[in-house]
Amino acid sequence: MDERILHYELRCKSCGAPMLLPVGMIGRLFALPDTQPNSSYAIAAVCRQCKSVDTYFLERNHPRHTPDYIEKFAYPIRDTMDGPMLGCGEEGCRALLPLIAQWIPETPTKERKAEVETWRWGHLQCPAGHSIAKPDWELL
Ligand SMILES: [Zn+2]
Ligand SMILES: [Zn+2]
Repeated sequence: MDERILHYELRCKSCGAPMLLPVGMIGRLFALPDTQPNSSYAIAAVCRQCKSVDTYFLERNHPRHTPDYIEKFAYPIRDTMDGPMLGCGEEGCRALLPLIAQWIPETPTKERKAEVETWRWGHLQCPAGHSIAKPDWELL
């Protein structure tokens, strides 16, 4: 049986490794116009290869959109975490970035937490271009 689902295949901005993120899950985060985290289809994704956390603009009309991605069908082989929402630190800016990270399904919570400690922050931007600092947040 074919259980492939549609994914975005992004290229990590730091190391170029491919990242397969499920389109449906990300679509749900942006499904309701009133509760969209931002209006640019912007997400924060963590590269499994180099642990770099970066911003990807999936909205093709956005001036800083991420041109280098495709959509393709693939088997979902990883647990994908949707959220939490990272808030922009700029006063008056209400943009949020959903943080997307992936693990192979068997990874115990303890190892996931340890991996979160190795993530490399510093590249995140909200859709208005403000930088977003590493959040004060803990994986549950
Ligand atoms: Zn990378
Ligand atoms: Zn902002």
